[in-house]
Amino acid sequence: MIESIETILADVPTIRPHKLSVATMHTQTLVLVRIRCGDGIVGWGEATTIGGLSYGEESPESIKTNIDTYMAPLLVGMAADGVAKAMAKLRKAVQGNRFAKCAIETALLDAQARRLGVPLSELLGGRVRDALPVAWTLASGDTARDIDEAEQMLELRRHNIFKLKIGLREPMADVDHVLAIKRALGDRASVRVDVNQAWNETDAVRAIAALEAGGIDLVEQPVKAHDGAALARLTKRFDVAIMADEALHGPHDAMALARNDAAGVYAVKITQSGGLLAALEVATVARLAGIGLYGGTMLEGGIGTAATAHVCATFPELAWGTELFGPLLLTQEVLREPLVYRDFQLQVPTGPGLGVEIDTDRLQSLRRH
Ligand SMILES: [Mg+2]
Repeated sequence: MIESIETILADVPTIRPHKLSVATMHTQTLVLVRIRCGDGIVGWGEATTIGGLSYGEESPESIKTNIDTYMAPLLVGMAADGVAKAMAKLRKAVQGNRFAKCAIETALLDAQARRLGVPLSELLGGRVRDALPVAWTLASGDTARDIDEAEQMLELRRHNIFKLKIGLREPMADVDHVLAIKRALGDRASVRVDVNQAWNETDAVRAIAALEAGGIDLVEQPVKAHDGAALARLTKRFDVAIMADEALHGPHDAMALARNDAAGVYAVKITQSGGLLAALEVATVARLAGIGLYGGTMLEGGIGTAATAHVCATFPELAWGTELFGPLLLTQEVLREPLVYRDFQLQVPTGPGLGVEIDTDRLQSLRRH
Protein backbone atom coordinates (compact mmCIF):
# COMPACT_ATOMS: atom_id res chain seq x y z
CA MET A 1 0.00 0.00 0.00
CA ILE A 2 1.14 3.56 -0.70
CA GLU A 3 1.49 4.98 2.82
CA SER A 4 2.78 8.48 2.16
CA ILE A 5 3.99 10.78 -0.61
CA GLU A 6 6.31 13.54 0.51
CA THR A 7 7.72 16.40 -1.59
CA ILE A 8 11.06 17.93 -0.62
CA LEU A 9 12.64 21.12 -1.98
CA ALA A 10 16.40 21.46 -1.59
CA ASP A 11 18.40 24.50 -2.73
CA VAL A 12 21.89 23.58 -3.89
CA PRO A 13 24.46 26.13 -5.14
CA THR A 14 25.94 25.45 -8.60
CA ILE A 15 29.71 25.18 -9.08
CA ARG A 16 29.63 28.33 -11.27
CA PRO A 17 26.99 30.64 -12.73
CA HIS A 18 25.09 28.75 -15.44
CA LYS A 19 23.98 31.20 -18.14
CA LEU A 20 20.98 30.31 -20.28
CA SER A 21 19.07 32.62 -22.62
CA VAL A 22 16.15 32.42 -20.17
CA ALA A 23 17.98 32.67 -16.81
CA THR A 24 21.34 32.71 -15.06
CA MET A 25 21.43 30.04 -12.38
CA HIS A 26 23.47 30.29 -9.20
CA THR A 27 21.53 27.62 -7.34
CA GLN A 28 19.40 24.72 -8.42
CA THR A 29 16.26 23.78 -6.50
CA LEU A 30 15.97 20.02 -6.42
CA VAL A 31 12.37 18.79 -6.21
CA LEU A 32 12.35 15.30 -4.74
CA VAL A 33 9.48 12.93 -4.06
CA ARG A 34 9.68 10.16 -1.48
CA ILE A 35 7.00 7.45 -1.50
CA ARG A 36 6.84 5.14 1.51
CA CYS A 37 5.08 1.82 1.00
CA GLY A 38 3.41 -0.47 3.53
CA ASP A 39 5.98 -3.23 2.91
CA GLY A 40 8.78 -0.91 4.08
CA ILE A 41 10.05 -0.12 0.59
CA VAL A 42 10.80 3.52 -0.21
CA GLY A 43 10.83 4.91 -3.76
CA TRP A 44 12.32 8.22 -4.91
CA GLY A 45 11.53 10.49 -7.84
CA GLU A 46 12.58 13.95 -8.99
CA ALA A 47 10.74 16.85 -10.64
CA THR A 48 13.49 19.46 -10.81
CA THR A 49 13.02 22.29 -13.28
CA ILE A 50 15.17 25.23 -14.43
CA GLY A 51 15.06 28.85 -13.28
CA GLY A 52 11.73 28.97 -11.45
CA LEU A 53 9.12 29.62 -14.14
CA SER A 54 11.56 30.89 -16.77
CA TYR A 55 11.93 27.56 -18.58
CA GLY A 56 8.61 25.78 -18.09
CA GLU A 57 5.19 26.34 -16.58
CA GLU A 58 5.78 24.35 -13.40
CA SER A 59 7.91 25.83 -10.61
CA PRO A 60 9.44 23.93 -7.68
CA GLU A 61 6.87 25.51 -5.37
CA SER A 62 3.89 24.76 -7.63
CA ILE A 63 5.04 21.17 -8.04
CA LYS A 64 5.24 20.74 -4.26
CA THR A 65 1.86 22.36 -3.67
CA ASN A 66 0.13 20.38 -6.39
CA ILE A 67 1.56 17.04 -5.31
CA ASP A 68 0.88 17.66 -1.60
CA THR A 69 -2.61 19.11 -2.08
CA TYR A 70 -4.05 17.20 -5.01
CA MET A 71 -2.01 14.22 -6.08
CA ALA A 72 -0.86 12.55 -2.87
CA PRO A 73 -4.39 12.25 -1.41
CA LEU A 74 -5.54 10.50 -4.62
CA LEU A 75 -2.87 7.84 -4.38
CA VAL A 76 -2.32 7.18 -0.67
CA GLY A 77 -4.00 3.90 0.23
CA MET A 78 -3.72 2.44 -3.29
CA ALA A 79 -1.71 -0.73 -3.91
CA ALA A 80 1.97 0.24 -4.19
CA ASP A 81 2.66 -2.56 -6.69
CA GLY A 82 -0.06 -1.35 -9.06
CA VAL A 83 2.00 1.40 -10.67
CA ALA A 84 0.05 1.56 -13.93
CA LYS A 85 -3.31 1.75 -12.11
CA ALA A 86 -2.05 4.50 -9.81
CA MET A 87 -0.72 6.51 -12.75
CA ALA A 88 -3.95 6.01 -14.73
CA LYS A 89 -5.92 7.41 -11.79
CA LEU A 90 -3.54 10.36 -11.55
CA ARG A 91 -3.70 11.12 -15.27
CA LYS A 92 -7.49 10.98 -15.24
CA ALA A 93 -7.82 13.35 -12.29
CA VAL A 94 -4.99 15.81 -12.99
CA GLN A 95 -4.42 17.92 -16.11
CA GLY A 96 -0.90 18.89 -17.15
CA ASN A 97 1.69 18.89 -14.36
CA ARG A 98 4.06 16.69 -16.33
CA PHE A 99 7.03 17.20 -14.00
CA ALA A 100 5.02 16.30 -10.91
CA LYS A 101 3.57 13.21 -12.60
CA CYS A 102 7.04 12.15 -13.72
CA ALA A 103 8.41 12.34 -10.16
CA ILE A 104 5.54 10.25 -8.80
CA GLU A 105 5.85 7.65 -11.56
CA THR A 106 9.61 7.47 -11.02
CA ALA A 107 9.17 6.91 -7.27
CA LEU A 108 6.52 4.23 -7.80
CA LEU A 109 8.65 2.43 -10.40
CA ASP A 110 11.77 2.75 -8.23
CA ALA A 111 9.85 1.11 -5.36
CA GLN A 112 8.42 -1.61 -7.60
CA ALA A 113 11.81 -2.45 -9.14
CA ARG A 114 13.33 -2.66 -5.64
CA ARG A 115 10.46 -4.93 -4.62
CA LEU A 116 11.24 -7.20 -7.59
CA GLY A 117 15.01 -6.91 -7.03
CA VAL A 118 15.78 -5.65 -10.54
CA PRO A 119 17.29 -2.44 -11.96
CA LEU A 120 14.60 0.01 -13.09
CA SER A 121 15.75 -0.35 -16.71
CA GLU A 122 14.44 -3.95 -16.64
CA LEU A 123 10.90 -2.68 -15.95
CA LEU A 124 11.26 -0.40 -18.98
CA GLY A 125 11.98 -3.16 -21.47
CA GLY A 126 15.54 -3.99 -20.51
CA ARG A 127 18.84 -2.26 -21.03
CA VAL A 128 20.91 -2.63 -24.16
CA ARG A 129 23.79 -0.45 -22.90
CA ASP A 130 25.51 0.02 -19.53
CA ALA A 131 27.11 3.41 -20.16
CA LEU A 132 25.97 6.60 -21.87
CA PRO A 133 28.07 9.33 -23.57
CA VAL A 134 27.64 12.60 -21.66
CA ALA A 135 27.97 16.13 -23.02
CA TRP A 136 29.12 18.99 -20.80
CA THR A 137 27.54 22.41 -21.06
CA LEU A 138 29.85 25.39 -21.41
CA ALA A 139 27.78 28.28 -20.10
CA SER A 140 30.09 30.68 -18.29
CA GLY A 141 29.48 33.24 -21.03
CA ASP A 142 33.25 33.85 -21.35
CA THR A 143 35.07 32.38 -24.38
CA ALA A 144 38.51 31.88 -22.79
CA ARG A 145 37.01 30.42 -19.62
CA ASP A 146 34.83 28.05 -21.67
CA ILE A 147 37.87 26.83 -23.67
CA ASP A 148 39.83 26.25 -20.44
CA GLU A 149 36.90 24.33 -18.99
CA ALA A 150 36.60 22.17 -22.14
CA GLU A 151 40.35 21.42 -22.13
CA GLN A 152 40.09 20.35 -18.50
CA MET A 153 37.20 17.98 -19.30
CA LEU A 154 39.09 16.43 -22.21
CA GLU A 155 42.14 15.99 -19.98
CA LEU A 156 40.03 14.28 -17.30
CA ARG A 157 38.40 12.10 -20.01
CA ARG A 158 35.05 13.17 -18.58
CA HIS A 159 33.50 14.87 -21.65
CA ASN A 160 34.33 15.22 -25.33
CA ILE A 161 30.95 16.58 -26.34
CA PHE A 162 30.33 20.24 -25.51
CA LYS A 163 27.04 22.08 -25.66
CA LEU A 164 27.19 25.85 -25.66
CA LYS A 165 24.28 27.79 -24.23
CA ILE A 166 23.71 30.80 -26.48
CA GLY A 167 20.96 33.25 -27.37
CA LEU A 168 21.57 35.99 -24.80
CA ARG A 169 23.75 38.13 -27.06
CA GLU A 170 23.35 39.35 -30.61
CA PRO A 171 23.31 36.18 -32.79
CA MET A 172 26.55 36.83 -34.69
CA ALA A 173 28.40 37.66 -31.43
CA ASP A 174 27.27 34.26 -30.15
CA VAL A 175 28.42 32.63 -33.40
CA ASP A 176 31.91 34.19 -33.00
CA HIS A 177 32.06 32.83 -29.43
CA VAL A 178 31.03 29.33 -30.56
CA LEU A 179 33.38 29.18 -33.53
CA ALA A 180 36.34 30.36 -31.43
CA ILE A 181 35.71 27.42 -29.10
CA LYS A 182 35.31 24.98 -32.02
CA ARG A 183 38.60 26.21 -33.54
CA ALA A 184 40.39 25.70 -30.22
CA LEU A 185 39.05 22.15 -29.76
CA GLY A 186 39.10 21.04 -33.40
CA ASP A 187 38.32 17.38 -34.05
CA ARG A 188 38.98 16.43 -30.43
CA ALA A 189 35.42 17.30 -29.50
CA SER A 190 31.87 17.57 -30.82
CA VAL A 191 30.67 21.15 -30.36
CA ARG A 192 26.94 21.87 -30.31
CA VAL A 193 24.73 24.83 -29.45
CA ASP A 194 21.48 25.25 -27.53
CA VAL A 195 19.67 28.46 -28.36
CA ASN A 196 16.75 27.89 -25.96
CA GLN A 197 14.25 29.48 -28.43
CA ALA A 198 16.06 32.84 -28.51
CA TRP A 199 16.16 33.49 -32.26
CA ASN A 200 13.60 34.56 -34.79
CA GLU A 201 13.69 32.65 -38.06
CA THR A 202 15.68 35.30 -39.96
CA ASP A 203 18.42 35.42 -37.31
CA ALA A 204 18.38 31.63 -37.16
CA VAL A 205 18.99 31.28 -40.91
CA ARG A 206 21.98 33.64 -40.78
CA ALA A 207 23.48 32.16 -37.62
CA ILE A 208 22.94 28.48 -38.47
CA ALA A 209 24.58 28.94 -41.89
CA ALA A 210 27.71 30.23 -40.12
CA LEU A 211 27.60 27.51 -37.44
CA GLU A 212 27.21 24.78 -40.07
CA ALA A 213 30.16 26.15 -42.07
CA GLY A 214 32.24 26.25 -38.88
CA GLY A 215 31.79 22.55 -38.11
CA ILE A 216 29.14 22.70 -35.38
CA ASP A 217 27.36 19.33 -35.13
CA LEU A 218 23.96 20.16 -33.69
CA VAL A 219 21.65 23.15 -33.20
CA GLU A 220 19.12 22.78 -30.40
CA GLN A 221 15.77 24.58 -30.32
CA PRO A 222 16.83 27.70 -32.30
CA VAL A 223 13.29 29.13 -32.49
CA LYS A 224 10.21 29.34 -30.26
CA ALA A 225 8.75 26.09 -28.99
CA HIS A 226 5.34 26.78 -30.57
CA ASP A 227 6.81 27.57 -34.01
CA GLY A 228 7.04 24.06 -35.41
CA ALA A 229 6.69 25.41 -38.95
CA ALA A 230 9.86 27.52 -38.62
CA LEU A 231 11.69 24.58 -37.03
CA ALA A 232 10.64 22.41 -39.97
CA ARG A 233 11.83 24.99 -42.52
CA LEU A 234 15.23 25.19 -40.78
CA THR A 235 15.48 21.40 -40.68
CA LYS A 236 14.82 21.20 -44.42
CA ARG A 237 17.17 24.07 -45.23
CA PHE A 238 20.29 22.89 -43.41
CA ASP A 239 22.41 19.74 -43.32
CA VAL A 240 23.44 20.34 -39.71
CA ALA A 241 21.17 18.44 -37.32
CA ILE A 242 18.39 20.48 -35.72
CA MET A 243 17.09 19.26 -32.36
CA ALA A 244 13.67 19.80 -30.80
CA ASP A 245 13.74 20.32 -27.05
CA GLU A 246 11.26 22.85 -25.62
CA ALA A 247 8.93 22.00 -28.54
CA LEU A 248 8.65 18.47 -27.20
CA HIS A 249 6.17 18.02 -24.37
CA GLY A 250 5.57 14.32 -24.63
CA PRO A 251 4.34 11.73 -27.13
CA HIS A 252 1.71 13.90 -28.86
CA ASP A 253 4.27 16.60 -29.67
CA ALA A 254 6.69 13.90 -30.78
CA MET A 255 4.09 12.61 -33.23
CA ALA A 256 3.12 16.08 -34.50
CA LEU A 257 6.74 17.12 -35.06
CA ALA A 258 7.47 13.82 -36.81
CA ARG A 259 4.50 14.31 -39.16
CA ASN A 260 5.96 17.67 -40.20
CA ASP A 261 9.57 16.48 -40.45
CA ALA A 262 10.25 19.34 -38.06
CA ALA A 263 13.45 18.06 -36.44
CA GLY A 264 16.24 15.57 -37.04
CA VAL A 265 16.89 14.90 -33.36
CA TYR A 266 14.70 14.73 -30.24
CA ALA A 267 15.90 15.66 -26.77
CA VAL A 268 14.12 13.08 -24.63
CA LYS A 269 13.42 14.42 -21.15
CA ILE A 270 11.49 12.33 -18.67
CA THR A 271 9.91 15.34 -16.93
CA GLN A 272 9.01 17.19 -20.14
CA SER A 273 7.51 13.94 -21.44
CA GLY A 274 5.37 13.51 -18.31
CA GLY A 275 7.06 10.34 -17.06
CA LEU A 276 9.39 7.48 -17.86
CA LEU A 277 6.87 5.50 -19.90
CA ALA A 278 5.86 8.61 -21.86
CA ALA A 279 9.56 9.26 -22.54
CA LEU A 280 9.80 5.74 -23.97
CA GLU A 281 6.85 6.59 -26.23
CA VAL A 282 8.63 9.73 -27.44
CA ALA A 283 11.65 7.57 -28.23
CA THR A 284 9.51 5.03 -30.07
CA VAL A 285 7.94 7.72 -32.25
CA ALA A 286 11.43 9.01 -33.03
CA ARG A 287 12.73 5.55 -33.89
CA LEU A 288 9.80 4.83 -36.22
CA ALA A 289 10.15 8.24 -37.90
CA GLY A 290 13.92 8.00 -38.38
CA ILE A 291 14.65 10.78 -35.87
CA GLY A 292 17.85 10.63 -33.80
CA LEU A 293 17.78 10.46 -29.99
CA TYR A 294 19.49 12.46 -27.29
CA GLY A 295 19.01 12.06 -23.54
CA GLY A 296 18.19 15.51 -22.16
CA THR A 297 18.41 16.97 -18.66
CA MET A 298 16.60 19.55 -16.59
CA LEU A 299 19.81 19.78 -14.54
CA GLU A 300 18.44 17.28 -12.08
CA GLY A 301 20.45 15.86 -9.22
CA GLY A 302 21.30 12.19 -8.86
CA ILE A 303 17.77 10.80 -8.71
CA GLY A 304 16.37 12.32 -11.90
CA THR A 305 19.68 11.74 -13.66
CA ALA A 306 19.67 8.05 -12.70
CA ALA A 307 16.04 7.74 -13.82
CA THR A 308 16.84 9.21 -17.25
CA ALA A 309 19.89 6.94 -17.49
CA HIS A 310 17.68 3.88 -16.98
CA VAL A 311 15.37 5.11 -19.76
CA CYS A 312 18.22 5.88 -22.19
CA ALA A 313 19.88 2.53 -21.45
CA THR A 314 16.91 0.85 -23.17
CA PHE A 315 17.24 2.82 -26.46
CA PRO A 316 18.48 0.59 -29.32
CA GLU A 317 20.01 3.70 -30.93
CA LEU A 318 21.30 6.74 -29.05
CA ALA A 319 23.02 8.58 -31.89
CA TRP A 320 23.57 11.87 -30.05
CA GLY A 321 24.43 10.65 -26.55
CA THR A 322 23.13 12.46 -23.48
CA GLU A 323 23.67 15.55 -21.37
CA LEU A 324 23.20 13.78 -18.04
CA PHE A 325 25.75 15.88 -16.15
CA GLY A 326 23.30 17.54 -13.71
CA PRO A 327 24.91 16.25 -10.48
CA LEU A 328 28.32 17.51 -11.68
CA LEU A 329 27.01 21.09 -11.83
CA LEU A 330 26.01 21.01 -8.15
CA THR A 331 28.25 21.70 -5.16
CA GLN A 332 26.43 19.16 -2.96
CA GLU A 333 25.63 15.53 -3.61
CA VAL A 334 22.35 14.04 -2.34
CA LEU A 335 23.41 10.46 -3.10
CA ARG A 336 25.45 8.41 -0.66
CA GLU A 337 27.58 7.18 -3.57
CA PRO A 338 27.75 9.62 -6.47
CA LEU A 339 26.99 8.46 -10.01
CA VAL A 340 30.11 7.30 -11.83
CA TYR A 341 31.43 9.27 -14.83
CA ARG A 342 34.32 7.56 -16.59
CA ASP A 343 35.84 7.57 -20.07
CA PHE A 344 33.40 10.20 -21.32
CA GLN A 345 30.41 8.13 -20.17
CA LEU A 346 27.95 7.89 -17.31
CA GLN A 347 27.80 4.36 -15.95
CA VAL A 348 24.15 3.28 -15.64
CA PRO A 349 23.55 2.10 -12.04
CA THR A 350 23.15 -1.66 -11.69
CA GLY A 351 21.50 -2.06 -8.27
CA PRO A 352 17.77 -2.62 -7.70
CA GLY A 353 15.40 0.23 -8.60
CA LEU A 354 17.20 3.43 -9.56
CA GLY A 355 20.32 1.83 -8.14
CA VAL A 356 21.15 4.87 -6.03
CA GLU A 357 20.77 5.54 -2.28
CA ILE A 358 19.85 8.91 -0.82
CA ASP A 359 22.04 10.54 1.81
CA THR A 360 19.10 11.51 4.04
CA ASP A 361 21.27 13.45 6.52
CA ARG A 362 22.72 15.57 3.73
CA LEU A 363 19.26 16.07 2.25
CA GLN A 364 17.93 17.09 5.66
CA SER A 365 20.59 19.80 5.87
CA LEU A 366 19.79 21.09 2.36
CA ARG A 367 16.01 20.96 2.45
CA ARG A 368 13.88 24.06 2.60
CA HIS A 369 11.81 24.39 5.78
MG1 LIG B 1 17.77 22.49 -24.42
